[in-house]
Amino acid sequence: MCDWCGRALPGGRGRRYCPRPRTCRQAAYRARRRVEAAVPARVALSQINQELQAHAYALDELIAAGTGARRVVPGIHCTAAADFQHLVGELVRCAVVADREAGTTWAVIGEALGLSADAARARYGKVRLLWPPPPQPT
Ligand SMILES: [Zn+2]
Repeated sequence: MCDWCGRALPGGRGRRYCPRPRTCRQAAYRARRRVEAAVPARVALSQINQELQAHAYALDELIAAGTGARRVVPGIHCTAAADFQHLVGELVRCAVVADREAGTTWAVIGEALGLSADAARARYGKVRLLWPPPPQPT
């Protein structure tokens, strides 16, 4: 059976794909390359996800610490929320890069994000992987 299309293969042990034309072998090769191409963006996604979880935990602590406190540090809630906003923006950008590297069309990406294909391309077409972010100048 062909590893790609599942059709029965004519004779010959050790053969993995349909013999001719070699579209199945080529399609399988392209699919493997796409999986590999998406790896850096997937690593970045995982790191951002961990950051988000750390922030969610810190927000829990902040809210718990504020319960029964005598005063609230000015702006502390908005500062915490702004961190999420930034990280979620990075998360979406990395997700777009991961999907594009994996060969996903702009139409599919746009649909997932509630955008038209053109709007998705216009917004994310020039996005490159920038994670981890460069160290902040001090
Ligand atoms: Zn095949």
